[in-house]
Amino acid sequence: MKVVYFDNNATTRVAEEALEEIKPYFCELYGNPSSMHTFGGQVGRKIREAREKVAALLGCDPSEVIFTGCGTESDNTAINGTLAALPDRRKIITSRVEHPAVLQVCRELENRGYTVVEMGVDKKGRLDMDQLEEQIDDDTALVTIMYANNETGTIFPVSKIAKLTESKGVVFHTDAVQAVGKIPMNLSERPGIDLLSISGHKLHAPKGVGALFVRKGTRLTPYMLGGHQEGGRRAGTENVPGIIGLGKACEIAAENMAEENNKVKNLRDKLEKAILNKCPDCMVNGDTKNRLPNTSNISFEFIEGEAILLMLDKFGICASSGSACTSGSLEPSHVLRAMGVPFTAAHGSIRFSLSRYNTEEEIDFAIEKIPPVIDRLRQLSPFVAE
Ligand code: PLP
Repeated sequence: MKVVYFDNNATTRVAEEALEEIKPYFCELYGNPSSMHTFGGQVGRKIREAREKVAALLGCDPSEVIFTGCGTESDNTAINGTLAALPDRRKIITSRVEHPAVLQVCRELENRGYTVVEMGVDKKGRLDMDQLEEQIDDDTALVTIMYANNETGTIFPVSKIAKLTESKGVVFHTDAVQAVGKIPMNLSERPGIDLLSISGHKLHAPKGVGALFVRKGTRLTPYMLGGHQEGGRRAGTENVPGIIGLGKACEIAAENMAEENNKVKNLRDKLEKAILNKCPDCMVNGDTKNRLPNTSNISFEFIEGEAILLMLDKFGICASSGSACTSGSLEPSHVLRAMGVPFTAAHGSIRFSLSRYNTEEEIDFAIEKIPPVIDRLRQLSPFVAE
């Protein structure tokens, strides 16, 4: 059965061009980039090239890019590293809709005595900038707010936040795991963004590699201690193939971003429009005017997201739901709850997330299969009046 993959915010297919570039670094060019010999040195050169490509996509200096093991590590490093470097400040401001890679770290810090403010969002998932300004005080070490939400695609006003934090002398970290490769970053022109997280597997690089942008002059205590890799800022022998793959993936993203965004957005909009037309009692979650081009989060009232996923899976259609199974009961996502999405709608939410590899035929196939699935489940639902 052909797989129709609409779950690209979970992970993406590795770009063939990236895979080709990685291949020699397993069995032929397997030297350690830290070694003194030429065999290792050539690997070190390739890492330098990859760093330049990541920096080109971010619009920053290569020295401001630290390779990490994943987006989660980048987030953990940014938050813990900032607090360790600023021991006199004890307050962190974040949002209720962050990924757990940020939220769980902040909650753990709260357990350890830090003051953590989780900013709420409105029903479209948007942040209130006035409230944010009110919260920043002399004790604030860090504001960490995501660039774009992984569940709804809603884009946050990162430039405005950066201007605010810069004017208050507070460090700003943004989790841009879902945004890099889809939105131009131009970091050299946005001085208030001090730290920014990337994850390779969200932009067609392999899993197990990420990066953290650290603006020159930002105080950050290293999180991983050991060797002198990454200029002493992140110890541990480099994931050489992963880093090379990330470099290539960033190069491809930089070259084709506008064209690809356009293609992906058109496919996403076609799918979304058809679903809304053909299925009654549906709504789109998030800020449809300011969203990632690849993401559509749709609530199907009166039915369970999990049931929809299982039935779509029979046709090879991969998507994901906004609920998570916690101790046997289905919990609606913290993002949709924070947005105040009604319980019955939050339970039936499905995220479709596309990529450059999706085709018009796949969209047509999904448009043919999804409405009957929704109809069938509604017929079985105890919540729908007869
Ligand atoms: N931040 C966001 C917004 C994400 O969507 C994800 C992954 O889904 C992460 C962080 C974690 O990234 P990784 O899977 O590379 O650890």
